[in-house]
Formats: sequence, C-alpha cells, structure tokens
Amino acid sequence: MVESWCEPGFHADQIWRWLYCSYASSFDEMSDLPLRLRKRLGEQTKIQTLNPVKELTSTDRKTRKILFQLYDGREIESVSMLQGRAGEGVRHTICVSAMAGCPIGCPFCATGQEGFERVLSAGEIVEQVMYFARVLREHPVANIVFMGMGEPLANYDATLKAIRTLNSPDGLNIGARHMTVSTSGLVPGIKRLAREGLQVGLAVSLHAPDDSLRSRLVPLNKRYPLKELLAACSDFFAATGRRVTFEYTLFQGVNDSPDQARQLAGLVRGMNCHINLIPANQTDSSAFRPSPVRNVVRFQHELQRHKVNATIRRSAGADIHAGCGQLRNRAETERANGMAHKRRSLRT
Ligand code: SAH
Ligand code: SF4
Repeated sequence: MVESWCEPGFHADQIWRWLYCSYASSFDEMSDLPLRLRKRLGEQTKIQTLNPVKELTSTDRKTRKILFQLYDGREIESVSMLQGRAGEGVRHTICVSAMAGCPIGCPFCATGQEGFERVLSAGEIVEQVMYFARVLREHPVANIVFMGMGEPLANYDATLKAIRTLNSPDGLNIGARHMTVSTSGLVPGIKRLAREGLQVGLAVSLHAPDDSLRSRLVPLNKRYPLKELLAACSDFFAATGRRVTFEYTLFQGVNDSPDQARQLAGLVRGMNCHINLIPANQTDSSAFRPSPVRNVVRFQHELQRHKVNATIRRSAGADIHAGCGQLRNRAETERANGMAHKRRSLRT
C-alpha cells in the first residue's frame, strides 16, 4: 500500500516494526516516518479496528476475557490466560477467534447455536493478539490457540496469514510450535495444513468414540466421518512430526462412560496422539450438562489403563463464562433486557 502511494518501500518496514515490535497504537508515535505520511495513514487507515466493549477478569485474576466489537458491529471474544508465578517468568496464552459465529453448529457450543455471521480477516485475528500484547506488555505472549469462536480451517487463508504474521521474526516472533489450531474435523483443511511446512500444533475436537454420537455432537462428522478424520490426523503426524491432540469434552450421560473410554482407546490405538479431557462449560442446553469430576477422572483412568495418554484440562475462567461464545451470548441477553449500555463493572 505504501508503495502504491509512491512512498519508498522502507517506510512499510518501519510501520511493521512500530506495529509489531513497539506495539504502537497510533501513527503519531511513529516518529521516524515523515509527518505527511503519518497524516495520510491516519486519514486513510486504522491501526485498531477492534473495539473492546466488555471485559471480564476471573476471580484468581489469571484469565481475562474481552468482547470486541468489529468495525461492522459484529462481536467476537478473545481470552488471555496467565501461566507461571510472579518472579518465575509469567507468560500468556492467547485464545483467538477466527469467525464471528460458526457454521458448524455443534449443539453444546454457545457460538454454534448462534449461527454463522462472517469470517474474520487475517488483520482481525492478529489484532486480537496485539491487543493483549499491548495491554500485557510486561509479560510476553507465549502461546496462541485458535480455540475461540468459529472454525479456523473453514477460514483457512486468513488463519494461515495470521499465523505467518505472528510467526514473523521481525514482529512478535511467536514460534509456530507455540501456536495451535483447533478444528472440528475439516479434513481438507487438516491435509492442507500438514503441507505448509509449518510446525503448528493441531488439536481435533473429537468428543465421541463412534460416528453416530459424533454426528450428533459435531454435525461436520456426517461429511468427514471418523475413519477419514483419523487418517488425516495420522497423515498430519507423518508430514509434520507433530503429535495431534484430541480434545474430548465430557457431557454427563452423553459421552462420559467407561465403555466409551474403552471405545475411544481402541479408536486411537497405535496413533501418536494425546487426549485432552475437557470438563464441559455449562451452556443453556439442558441436554448437555457438564460431567461430574468423578466421571472425568474415571474416564481418564480407563484411558490410561489402555495405555492412552490423557490429561484433564484445568477449566480456566469458568466464573467469567470463558467457554466458547458464552460472553457474547450473555452480552446479547443483557442487551435484550436493556442493560447493554450501562457499562457496569463486570470484574469479579
Ligand atoms: N471450531 C473449533 C475451534 C473453536 S471451539 C473446534 O471446534 O475445535 C474450541 C473448543 O471449545 C472445541 O474443542 C469445542 O468443542 C470446545 N467447546 C465448545 N463449547 C464448549 C462447552 N460448552 N464446553 C466445553 N468445551 C466447549
Ligand atoms: Fe463451531 Fe467449534 Fe463451536 Fe463446533 S465447537 S460450533 S466447530 S466453534
């Protein structure tokens, strides 16, 4: 763009450094750019198109969730999670959204139940990270997970462009190994990602050990059933050397029995993978209640008994509706109740 304005190309590098190394939030800060260029940039472009409209901080202050309004009024969520103790290198994991809404429509997911609005641009994805990098300046961003709203592999080009931007050594320089793309199982996207020559991590939302249950929980399974999905995961490992993580969210009486754990162990036997058991977040749907802790632990033991690697994810920020799409849903309900613009403090 800078060159199309007949300006020397090196100004583009300067702008890049101001944005991604110095976390500039205005063109005025870019002191080594000619004043006329700063003025033109200010008139014709925007650094921040995401407007934070609501923020929640968890009781332990480690999880922070932001509801952003996009330039067209749509809303997305992003979350930052703090790891480590003060004095021993505190770092952040940022969870970003790839879409406003989601077309996959998983019935337990607040985002899926809201329907699809639009995909995000690469800039909108990167901006979510830059927002946290700016406000949490003193602690580096360690990891980025594409586990917010939407299906990142159904917004493939923007997701990849965002990964490459965040990975750039001239910018935030976040190693590809520290970025994880979570997918509901879009097989062509997994195959494509495997061939990018990137060391990005892949997490696959499995949630069920058989096709009929999985088709109910993740409707995309009707198009890409388990056999095809698991073959794509093996292919991903073969091409990248990166072990795939299977996410398995437990719902009481739906997918949390020891039998289902055994079935799951049989399904992934011989694969180089890891299973992340996720205690479900309560949503409005009464059909999908979180499994009690004892069921989650029982499920883990059954998997381990069958020599399958399984850990239980600590549920971060449940008190601030950190589950996918839950903050936005709550904001919409409040708005419907006429509470939206009171801007009351939501800090807990
Ligand atoms: N669309 C992608 C990435 C975003 S969802 C995917 O489905 O993988 C990120 C994760 O949140 C997924 O594993 C999803 O299944 C999970 N999730 C959605 N709703 C949830 C809920 N109510 N409780 C627990 N996990 C949930
Ligand atoms: Fe979309 Fe993922 Fe939610 Fe399913 S779980 S509706 S794929 S965001």
